[in-house]
Amino acid sequence: MGELNRKPADLVVSGRLVTPTGVRPGAVLVSAGRIAAVTGLTAIDEVAPGVPHLDAGDAYVLPGLIDSHVHFRTPGLEHKEDWEHAGRAAVAGGFTTVIDMPNTRPPGLSPEAIAAKAALVAGSSLVDYRFHMGADPDRPELLADLDPAIATSAKVFMAGHQTAPTVVRDAERLEKIFAAAAVGGVRLVLHAERDTLFTMLDDWRGRLRDHHAYERSRPRSGGIAAVAEVIELVHRHGTQAHILHVSSAEEADLLAAASDAGLPVTYEVTGHHLSFTDQDTLRTGARTRLSPAIRSAADQDRLWAALRGGEVAALGSDHAPHTMAEKLLPVPDAPPGIPGVQELAVAVWTGMRRRWPDESSDVAIARLVDHLAAGPAELFRLPGKGRLEPGADADLTVFGPDDSWMLSAYDVQSKCGWSAYEGWTMAGRVRTTIRAGEVVWDANEQKAGSPTGRWLPAGPPGRGLTADSGRA
Ligand SMILES: [Zn+2]
Repeated sequence: MGELNRKPADLVVSGRLVTPTGVRPGAVLVSAGRIAAVTGLTAIDEVAPGVPHLDAGDAYVLPGLIDSHVHFRTPGLEHKEDWEHAGRAAVAGGFTTVIDMPNTRPPGLSPEAIAAKAALVAGSSLVDYRFHMGADPDRPELLADLDPAIATSAKVFMAGHQTAPTVVRDAERLEKIFAAAAVGGVRLVLHAERDTLFTMLDDWRGRLRDHHAYERSRPRSGGIAAVAEVIELVHRHGTQAHILHVSSAEEADLLAAASDAGLPVTYEVTGHHLSFTDQDTLRTGARTRLSPAIRSAADQDRLWAALRGGEVAALGSDHAPHTMAEKLLPVPDAPPGIPGVQELAVAVWTGMRRRWPDESSDVAIARLVDHLAAGPAELFRLPGKGRLEPGADADLTVFGPDDSWMLSAYDVQSKCGWSAYEGWTMAGRVRTTIRAGEVVWDANEQKAGSPTGRWLPAGPPGRGLTADSGRA
């Protein structure tokens, strides 16, 4: 309390706090954009008389959520999405920090390109941000001495689609990237599918005739082969590797074995692979065309089990909007990708409550925070993020666990204006999002705050390398 007297609070947020040491009723005292103290409910009047008080009642107060996989399309693809709209979608979804991908025009393949993107984004962001640099197969040496202030992670496209800048198709170049990243302490984030296999299948079978056939043209075997290759490279070089958007049971099994064996390999599961199956594609068509493809109900069950068992290091949205006109192109040309940063947390919450109705909501919300805050903060070295504790940035998400609502096109904040989740009844709702002590989203008023999000510095290298590291 002595510290409080020196540094009076300018905002108090009370509710059911989701902290690293448990879920309990209490209050967060915010001062100058940081969490000054975390107290019990009884002490509020004593320690912060007359301070503005946001009382969330029985709703949860979470650390601001982190989406470590978004494509906000700046620069060069702003007809699909721009940082202003994407930032609104993020805060509406409870996110206060994002890590953006490099497949833009031009692509972010060098420190100079990342610095240029940061300059473009400055002054327009509702959320704080970092960038994954793109691994350039022509210049793997860039990874060996990458300045952590620029990026601590690099994206490798082993398979590509229309927006991928540089697909790494041959084993020798891939190996050089793994070797350089190991030297530089850079975490590789990978789209792990076998592109050459997909090209062969396209040649043999000809153009796609309907959306349901898409999954067969981008089969699970492509992902399994690539994940196996990554695991062998990690074994040889010790490179930290994070596999993005794992879609099949076999990939999850391989990665669990590698992680159990102590390899520094982790993986991400997306909201859409947890929310849709190949059967949904009959109805949703191009809207759920994704890369990697949406797979079977059995695969989806395996991914949910991985989430519950703690195998998954991070949930990501892979927010990758396209305009509806692009999605309505002839079947072979419709681009894969889906908007998702606004839907991710509520869709996964909804899935957890449906799948495991007997689980206490305190246990469920702590799991969500593990995978959407503490885990990604640890993986991607984001100091002051992901944990509701004194000294952390005052990024807070107020979440009503029983606020049932139906998502409609009216709710969509992304510039693309559509959601594959339209018509879904969500089990919970993001009520308020606070970044650096400022309300940046209020669901009732549909009102966003000021675009003062910042390019975050990098913290020291993470302690742990396993999927459990976020809970350390
Ligand atoms: Zn992506």
